[in-house]
Amino acid sequence: MPIDATAPYDDENIFAKILRGEIHCDKVYEDEHALAFRDIAPQADTHVLVIPKGRYVSWDDFSLNAEDAEIAAFVRAVGNVARQLGLVEPGYRLLANIGQHGGQEVPHLHVHLFGGEPLGPMIA
Ligand code: C5P
Repeated sequence: MPIDATAPYDDENIFAKILRGEIHCDKVYEDEHALAFRDIAPQADTHVLVIPKGRYVSWDDFSLNAEDAEIAAFVRAVGNVARQLGLVEPGYRLLANIGQHGGQEVPHLHVHLFGGEPLGPMIA
């Protein structure tokens, strides 16, 4: 069931629990501002989710309310993950689902990172 991207942040969402260490994840990267882990239902050879450590429901919430330094740090972290996984060459894809029409299921901002194989025109 897609979420409302403008809803208040829910501290019981599954990614909040992952950030608190209450639920296991297959971590591939962590820094002060971001955590990245493998998606439990991968849609590509490599499918990683990168999430900010701050309490942001969606890209909309993040772009509106995060400090500039936090936004910069998150963008940098996404790039770090791709480089660490060796995906820059031959390339990869980033995707963020936002709200109902975007099909966002988890109400904590996450960027999907796909790679490791040639990707089709679109991955949902
Ligand atoms: O962008 P959207 O909200 O639809 O994607 C949520 C993603 O989180 C899904 O790809 C799902 O497989 C993933 N997920 C996960 N670990 C969980 C719960 C969901 O990797 N414990």
